[in-house]
Amino acid sequence: ADLPDPDVVAPWPADIRPPEPGAESDKYRRGVVGILAGSEEFTGAAVLSTGGAVHGGAGMVRFASVPHAVEVVRQRWPEAVTAVVEPGPKVVEQVGRVQAWVVGPGLGTGAEAEALLESVLGTDLPVLVDADGLTVLARRRDLLRREAPTVLTPHAGELSRLIGAERELIEARRLEYVRRAAAELSATVLLKGSTTLIAEEARPVRVNPTGTPRLATAGTGDVLSGLIGALLAGGMAAIDAAAAGAYLHGLAARIASAGPFGSEGESPISAYDVVSALPQAF
Ligand code: AMP
Ligand code: MG
Repeated sequence: ADLPDPDVVAPWPADIRPPEPGAESDKYRRGVVGILAGSEEFTGAAVLSTGGAVHGGAGMVRFASVPHAVEVVRQRWPEAVTAVVEPGPKVVEQVGRVQAWVVGPGLGTGAEAEALLESVLGTDLPVLVDADGLTVLARRRDLLRREAPTVLTPHAGELSRLIGAERELIEARRLEYVRRAAAELSATVLLKGSTTLIAEEARPVRVNPTGTPRLATAGTGDVLSGLIGALLAGGMAAIDAAAAGAYLHGLAARIASAGPFGSEGESPISAYDVVSALPQAF
């Protein structure tokens, strides 16, 4: 129903690759990514998003949230620099210097999440918004009026809320809707699903070739958010970070599910397996 039209779909550019560290690199120059995720109820999304960033080549991952989520992330990822913050407009100052933000996984959708989103989108840094952050954004589309790059990573349901179109319609005409969303929202839009599409206004849509249905399991989207955040912090342009992130994410899933004879798709995987396979995918 949605065969890519060669005029609007980019051939996969061979020259998109994550920045590689050199002798002059240090952790700050490699990129500091700030992750605002998790809540008292939801901690798994925070762990998985942080994992995507830690294994996504960030020089440093700063994770900030409420005490319970910080405690859980700290135990799982000693590599991350954590901070307990008061959710609200002062969050950005409390976390310290970062080069890109990831906001949304497991965050909740109340007034505190909204204040936090407003604070982050008020910066002049690249921001990736996912999951609960997208639900909040659906009622605060005014926050998208900003100069710095914004990356949105919705599945069809989340995009449906964002642009007020029926989910079934989006599913049936994904290519059309991802382009429309990118223009309407002034953002880089990565539409998840069986084939992930990445759109930016006035540019050909990119189609990710590495996806696998093994990814259709809870938590894999959270891994993707952290991974793309790390690539943004490393200095990649928004559309390249999104495309490279989707590519590596799918590849990691294939590596993780490979059977004993090296064939693909042999075994079920969990989101955490995708995190673990990221270094090999790179
Ligand atoms: P989320 O919707 O946030 O849970 O993220 C799910 C992840 O799995 C996204 O990266 C999707 O693109 C991917 N995914 C879900 N279903 C499929 C499928 N049938 N084939 C390939 N990838 C999928
Ligand atoms: Mg999700």
